[in-house]
Amino acid sequence: MGTKGREIVGLDIDQLLKRLNTAFADEWFAYFQYWIGAKVAVGPMRGAVVAELIEHAGDELRHADLIAERILQLGGTPLLEPNEWYDEGHCKYMKPEDPAVGTLLEQNIKGEQCAIEYYQDLANMVKDKDPITYNMVLEIMTDEVEHEEDLQALQEDMQVMLKTM
Ligand code: FE
Ligand code: FE
Ligand code: MG
Repeated sequence: MGTKGREIVGLDIDQLLKRLNTAFADEWFAYFQYWIGAKVAVGPMRGAVVAELIEHAGDELRHADLIAERILQLGGTPLLEPNEWYDEGHCKYMKPEDPAVGTLLEQNIKGEQCAIEYYQDLANMVKDKDPITYNMVLEIMTDEVEHEEDLQALQEDMQVMLKTM
């Protein structure tokens, strides 16, 4: 990255890069969790749930892209080995062993809640210190909040549907 661009970051850059790589690992897991969930899903409202999972998968991949670009800009290297995602990630990958849509929703909601907390912490860390990263984190966090809401709305629809059946 440009020297001035690095200089204006009022934080320990190595520490920031570590936090960003954690988010990068989490975004890949989130992407894959949504993507594979959309493939295996079975149960009520499958069409609606699958459409939402596919849309979210695309968002998570875009988040991974944004974070990788910022890591490179800061002079770091995005994790190059998927094995490292397990060690460096914060929000755990939840294997969709039970393909029932209700279980998939539960898992993905947990994932989103973990992401929201992680980005909230990161936002606090970079606020007033690194406006570029701060903007990016706010943009991503806005999506994660929307994701949680979308999934919980599906959960509610499903409960209403099952009650009236
Ligand atoms: Fe994300
Ligand atoms: Fe998300
Ligand atoms: Mg959505």
